[in-house]
Amino acid sequence: MTTERVPARLSGATSHGHLLDLIRATGGMSRQQLLASTGMSRATLYERLETLLRRNLIYEAESMEATGGRRSRKIRFEDRGRVVLAIAMGQTHATVSVSDITGRQLRSRTVQHRINAPAGTVLQPLIQIGTELLSMGTGETLIGIGVSVPAPVDAGTGYVVHPTTIPEWEPDAVVTAVSGQWQVPLVIENDARAGALGEGTTDIETTVYVKVGTGIGCGIVVDGAILRGAHGAAGDIGHIHVASDGPLCRCGRRGCLATFSSGSSLIDRLASQGITNLDEIARAAAQGQPDVEAQLLAAADVLGGALAATITTVNPNRLVLGGMIGTIPYFAERVRSRVLGDVVERIAEGLEIVAGAAGDHAAVDGLTRLVTRKVFAPDAIDMLTTDYAAN
Ligand SMILES: [Zn+2]
Repeated sequence: MTTERVPARLSGATSHGHLLDLIRATGGMSRQQLLASTGMSRATLYERLETLLRRNLIYEAESMEATGGRRSRKIRFEDRGRVVLAIAMGQTHATVSVSDITGRQLRSRTVQHRINAPAGTVLQPLIQIGTELLSMGTGETLIGIGVSVPAPVDAGTGYVVHPTTIPEWEPDAVVTAVSGQWQVPLVIENDARAGALGEGTTDIETTVYVKVGTGIGCGIVVDGAILRGAHGAAGDIGHIHVASDGPLCRCGRRGCLATFSSGSSLIDRLASQGITNLDEIARAAAQGQPDVEAQLLAAADVLGGALAATITTVNPNRLVLGGMIGTIPYFAERVRSRVLGDVVERIAEGLEIVAGAAGDHAAVDGLTRLVTRKVFAPDAIDMLTTDYAAN
């Protein structure tokens, strides 16, 4: 994960939050450099730095390079010992992970589960694992928690909305369970959207991430921001209509992409081969089983055809395929060749199509990034420092 960012403001009078943003983005600056690049008065700058120091948001580090015969002290963002807990849920697996705020995963555990069980049955074991993983650290401060679910999520409230995968869950099930355990900032996001953010290599590119696991999810990130659409449904590609009389979909219509290319549709079609889950498909694919390969390639063809339209509309730098099916090498390669064969040259030029990280790595990275953004957003820091001044 990289943090290639341009701070909101590089010059002019800056609030505590913008000042911290500048220090974070540059990797540290001396007081002289801060005075020069912000144009703030010495008194105002020093007062703000003092507040940030007392809030433990920055520290002064001895710089080894001498400037004009003197050693300068650099003001750095205090990222030491700060950790984020991520709980990344898929339909059949979940990963709980502790990362530092640069995105480096420190401790992680992946377990199997069934997302369509009651919310408490799914969430409580993951919360328990999170508690255990956090207790293994020393000198760490938990700054926030990110949770991803394989269902649509309202970005404002963190509620799961219209979830066909978990229709029995109360909308606030995740918020209530997690905030009952930890009183820190919480971000809840759809799994494919978190994955899209995690797979983006910089904040200045457009990434389309397609997770093919039990279902099909898609996240689109433009210039580092998740594209949500007017009603939060942007990228819900599983229900793109690809055939007029295809199999019946969970949404009640026929011929949706998910009925051709999702993991659950593959399990249905491979049932006669004794296949009952995604792990068995992945294993059979690795062993080169011809029937499994034929079904996977057919599914990839349909997906590639549907994605060609999405890719033409969005014109991304990268298309990343994730999920247990999406990361099977020949599946990803077939999607790649189908998309590149279908789009015009201007769209194909420079377009990178790759299989993403295995497991829930991308979602964990994306969640860590979302939590860090929320906690250290200039507005959030300004609130915090205002509170501090008032106390
Ligand atoms: Zn459908």
